Amino acid sequence: MTVASILAAKGRIVATTNATRTIGEAVDELAERRIGALVVVDGVDRVVGIISERDIVKALARTGARVLADPVGTIMTRDVVTCAETETVIGVMTRMTRGRFRHLPVVKGGRLAGIISIGDVVKERIGEVEREADEMRSYIATA
Ligand code: AMP
Repeated sequence: MTVASILAAKGRIVATTNATRTIGEAVDELAERRIGALVVVDGVDRVVGIISERDIVKALARTGARVLADPVGTIMTRDVVTCAETETVIGVMTRMTRGRFRHLPVVKGGRLAGIISIGDVVKERIGEVEREADEMRSYIATA
């Protein structure tokens, strides 16, 4: 199974922001969409960062509520790990586990083309394991 198969099922819409929006606006967006991270893009959909609820909690603990007026660019992670849609689900799962993050933007031709969350990966893996178990059961039943 590949990243492309997950995107085919869930779609390619990604919640994004830009580095000059305020952290408060990012909080509203995360709450409204009930998601955990926004990909930060430039004017031509290139990934320049990622801001997750964890970055915001850290900033609030460090600076207090006044940080909400600061730009996203001041706290976002700039060194973003991305993946291609040709990669396997196991490969991206390993990368997320090693990097300790739950979001992986998908990039195609240098532009943002989707996002995979740890929830998507777990859902895909459970589906795969269930399909294998069904195949084994029907094999045993007909053997
Ligand atoms: P998350 O687990 O996705 O909420 O993110 C935990 C931390 O990793 C936060 O500091 C994020 O900014 C950062 N992060 C999330 N996704 C990525 C990614 N794909 N590449 C690099 N850092 C990330």
